[in-house]
Amino acid sequence: MKLYNTLSRQIEEVVPLIDKKITFYSCGPTVYDYTHIGHLRTYVNVDLLKRTLSYFDYNVTHVMNITDVGHLTGDTDEGEDKLEKGAIKTGKSVWDVAKMYTEQFISSIKALNISEPDELPRATDNIEAMIELIKSLQEKGYTYQTKQAIYFDVSKFERYGKLSGQKLEDKKTQARPEVILDHDKKNQADFALWFFLVGRFENHQMHWPFDSAQGKEAGFPGWHIECSAMSMKYLGPTIDIHGGGVDHIAVHHENEIAQSEAATGQPFVRHWFHSEFLLIDGEKMSKSKDNFYTLEEVAKQGFEPIALRYLFLTTHYRQQLNFTWESLEAAQAALNKLKNAVMSMKSAPERPTISEEKLQSVSELSFRFKEALENDLQLPKALAIVWETVKSNNPSSDKLELLLDFDQVLGLGLNEVEGMENELPPEIEKIKTDYELARQGKDFSKSDMLRQQADKLGYRFEDSPTGTTIKKLH
Ligand code: AMP
Ligand code: ZN
Repeated sequence: MKLYNTLSRQIEEVVPLIDKKITFYSCGPTVYDYTHIGHLRTYVNVDLLKRTLSYFDYNVTHVMNITDVGHLTGDTDEGEDKLEKGAIKTGKSVWDVAKMYTEQFISSIKALNISEPDELPRATDNIEAMIELIKSLQEKGYTYQTKQAIYFDVSKFERYGKLSGQKLEDKKTQARPEVILDHDKKNQADFALWFFLVGRFENHQMHWPFDSAQGKEAGFPGWHIECSAMSMKYLGPTIDIHGGGVDHIAVHHENEIAQSEAATGQPFVRHWFHSEFLLIDGEKMSKSKDNFYTLEEVAKQGFEPIALRYLFLTTHYRQQLNFTWESLEAAQAALNKLKNAVMSMKSAPERPTISEEKLQSVSELSFRFKEALENDLQLPKALAIVWETVKSNNPSSDKLELLLDFDQVLGLGLNEVEGMENELPPEIEKIKTDYELARQGKDFSKSDMLRQQADKLGYRFEDSPTGTTIKKLH
């Protein structure tokens, strides 16, 4: 399959390092506050890519981290620790804050049918791996130490900036004078691998020992080192795909590349996959701007979580999507319609024979669905083919088979939609079969008579371009 690679800025064939195995790492949540629907857009897009790769018979191993340590309020080293901030806000310990928001994150991804990663490691369980990596960078001469922290010296890494295309000189000019910075830092873009418990971090709740040639220094890891350490620990020095939101390109992912490649001397990631933002009123939805909705709020407004997933399918992952309640209403209506169509297909009588012409139409729909996915994950196109399938005049059983096949990627839970058959009494079943046959034979006076008969027994037959649905009247 072909996919845009942020590194080469081109749509490229995904070629795994080994056979049809794909190693896939994606950046997970910082659990100091709620997972909001903006994060969920990125997680859904990662899930769609994963499901597509599996659909094309790749064997995907997916790792996603949970940042339950440190991670300052800016992507660079300025600001406060996000978890400490969350603890102050909620009056809980940093450990309880992390636990609470991790649970909310997991229940949100489950509700959206996001398949669980094979590994969901917590940063706090992997401090040892991070310390090892930092030590290896120290030995190789990529670091320096000040009173406050151990830094990665970006000037020592020639390829720094290759992902975002930014020059080091440009980065320097972005320094914000008002932020509290370490005056002993050599270069503005240098980033902390390890913070010591001094100054603004003196009373930091989470800390670990770090023995180095310079002595024992308690502290906590910088944010970027966690993804490098966990990606390499679980998936090896070079992985096939690394994903996340576009906000991580310029700093976080650039830093991940620098420290990983400096340590191993090997390419870190072959394919970078970045998902565009979910906006609200034209602005990025974000925790810091407090302009976000959670999935719980979406449910409170009467929407199914899966309607949000449907909404995300309507926009390509490399395009921004502006969230409005109206667009979610439209997505919910479309999802209802789709589920109704599936329900009536499940209730339709078996039709064992299929004409050559229809067989061709089914395989053509399947081909075009795959083609849309194969070409940079074009979900909106794939969704259009779903509707073509629903509206086609192929037999219900074939349409259903096709839709359930498509849903392995879409993840709309169509296999859970129940047909009416089980609930229908046998006499209604019989009337329904006769009714459909009468309609097919264009014997409308008979079909009208059968409809009235069903009405009297408390069942309403409703016709739509997608088939007959039955509603119980009381
Ligand atoms: P964070 O917890 O801020 O590190 O974010 C977790 C993931 O969600 C990262 O991959 C971010 O890039 C992504 N993300 C954050 N905000 C948005 C947004 N508004 N739209 C899409 N993705 C986002
Ligand atoms: Zn990351």
